[in-house]
Amino acid sequence: MSEPYENCTHDCGSCGASCSQRDPGSMIQAPHPDSHIRKVIGIVSGKGGVGKSLVTALSAVSATRMGYSAGILDADITGPSIPKMFGIHEKAFGTEDGLLPVETRTGIKLMSINLILDNESDPVAWRGPILSGVVTQFWSEVIWGDVDYLFVDMPPGTGDVMLTVFQSLPIDGIIIVTSPQDLVRMIVEKAVNMAAKMDVPILGVIENMSYAICPDCGKKLPLFGESRLKEIADRFGLDVLGQIPILPEISNASDDGTIEEYSGDYLDDLSICLKKVMDQKAD
Ligand code: ADP
Repeated sequence: MSEPYENCTHDCGSCGASCSQRDPGSMIQAPHPDSHIRKVIGIVSGKGGVGKSLVTALSAVSATRMGYSAGILDADITGPSIPKMFGIHEKAFGTEDGLLPVETRTGIKLMSINLILDNESDPVAWRGPILSGVVTQFWSEVIWGDVDYLFVDMPPGTGDVMLTVFQSLPIDGIIIVTSPQDLVRMIVEKAVNMAAKMDVPILGVIENMSYAICPDCGKKLPLFGESRLKEIADRFGLDVLGQIPILPEISNASDDGTIEEYSGDYLDDLSICLKKVMDQKAD
């Protein structure tokens, strides 16, 4: 049997070392042996189009601005939008040892099905088990190297892939993204129940598209009705990590692939939360 790994943090999930102390009953998969990932954060939403990928991208940008190294595992295989937000159109490079992520301008490491498919507009019409298999391969066969935060952009809803990610990756916490027109209460409740079942901590909730800002007077306009975010967060005991308005700068930055240049301060509480997660000791 192999010796315990000399730099052991007792966090088997994010360590690829083959080691005598690994829990044999755990379904958590080891990452690639050359990956050293400190924290894994999942970003979830009830339905598509609420800004889950935007929040994933901005979380990685915040982490990088705080001086951490960050990566994004795009688990939204049938609707991958992460590479486009960063203006990445090149392909990922494979070696005998594994697949190398593509790095953005500020050094965020990305892996997405769009970095592998010949033609990024080809639809991915695969069934659940195949999608789940690709996601676990993105974890165990990608050479992530040293990454402080790996953000996982989940597919919308609480389906197969989410279940696989919760079982196979050592998730340190999830962030729930909602919008005011979403059926917020039901969606939050589902995510809360799923996380409780799988013993995954919830870091908090972010409301996107909370309001528009009048270009003439600066007044906040609740286009989709008054937010019930606070009421729902209180009901489930969740922290609110931010409210993001609808802003043309945001849609332009994600369409033009310049999300790293966007500098709104709507997610300052998220940055504080990420720092806290990093400071927590592994069990
Ligand atoms: P999801 O990952 O939930 O499907 P995305 O993050 O891909 O959603 O966002 C869907 C679209 O809406 C994208 O084109 C994005 O640029 C746009 N968008 C998201 N949030 C905002 C916002 N706050 N202001 C303006 N456009 C936004």
